[in-house]
Amino acid sequence: MANEIDWSNLPFGYVKTDYNVRCLYRDGKWGEIEVSDSENINIHMAATALHYGQEIFEGLKAFRGVDGKIRIFRMEENARRFRSSAEGLLMEPVPEDLFCRMCIQAVKLNERFIPPYGTGASLYIRPLEIGMTPRVGVKEADEYLFIVLVTPVGPYFKGGFRNTNLCITREYDRAAPRGTGRFKCGGNYAASLTAGKMAHDKGYSAVLYLDPKEKKYLDECGPANFYAIKDGKYITPASDSILPSITNMSLMTLAEDMGIPVERRHITIDELRDVSEAAACGTAAVCSPVGEIDDLDTGEKYIISRDGKPGPVTTEFYNRLSAIRSGEMEDTHGWITIVE
Ligand SMILES: *Cc1c(COP(=O)(O)O)cnc(C)c1O
Repeated sequence: MANEIDWSNLPFGYVKTDYNVRCLYRDGKWGEIEVSDSENINIHMAATALHYGQEIFEGLKAFRGVDGKIRIFRMEENARRFRSSAEGLLMEPVPEDLFCRMCIQAVKLNERFIPPYGTGASLYIRPLEIGMTPRVGVKEADEYLFIVLVTPVGPYFKGGFRNTNLCITREYDRAAPRGTGRFKCGGNYAASLTAGKMAHDKGYSAVLYLDPKEKKYLDECGPANFYAIKDGKYITPASDSILPSITNMSLMTLAEDMGIPVERRHITIDELRDVSEAAACGTAAVCSPVGEIDDLDTGEKYIISRDGKPGPVTTEFYNRLSAIRSGEMEDTHGWITIVE
């Protein structure tokens, strides 16, 4: 069955695999890891996950390398961020080693779904944690389920690596100042669906959100961080209402490797006039280059790419990070876990 998958034409969607792994936190401790072949979970209808949004997740990928080995990119960082998200929503943190062990186990159990090298496809790993305790009064759960599921996903850039456009609007925020923006929780995504649909309906790939307090600075896209290249520097927003993207963190390191100075700071909308490149970055795409950013409220159009092609820095980032993930370029920063 898995041999019949058309790897290069896989969508970014859910494909059933053989197994998922689960662990339940109950009576003050994490239990045994369970391997399940069911796609369903049994959950109380009054569980806190369903009523009060106690749900967090992660997204990372495993790749089949040029040498046939399986590589997972920066898993420990995802484990750390998952812990921070749990703390942010008053959920039980999953120990980082348990997180990593379960990700590796889920990958191994579904090895036949790891797309072959060279297809651009990968095995997406989706850890999630939910509050299981039935509550009517608002209070955190004391039982939690941690699940790692995996699904093969196709190459992000089906039509080739090319620019898309973003829009700015003051009509919507995805997160509040001092809210949950820096945690990876489903609630932030629910809060961004309306704006995301509006953007898609108007032909944009995403909304570039402004900081929710002053509406003066750039924040991030719905599911991805934002950076630009300005005066030969890598600039990316410093904000505590955005999710600390591991891809962004990696690109900052690659920029330094490439001799490009990095600035994490407030970026005003006006500065978009003077940037030579801009992109959204995250696990799904690595970086998705931006052609134009339209401010829907003022009618201002910021043309980022004059020739309509992805810029040289973004193209180099994409090539380098892809090459590290597939084992074609040496992993000098210790980002890769080889699954044996
Ligand atoms: C997951 C996510 C990102 C990207 O993070 P990566 O670790 O690079 O995949 C960016 N913004 C938001 C809101 C996210 O949920």
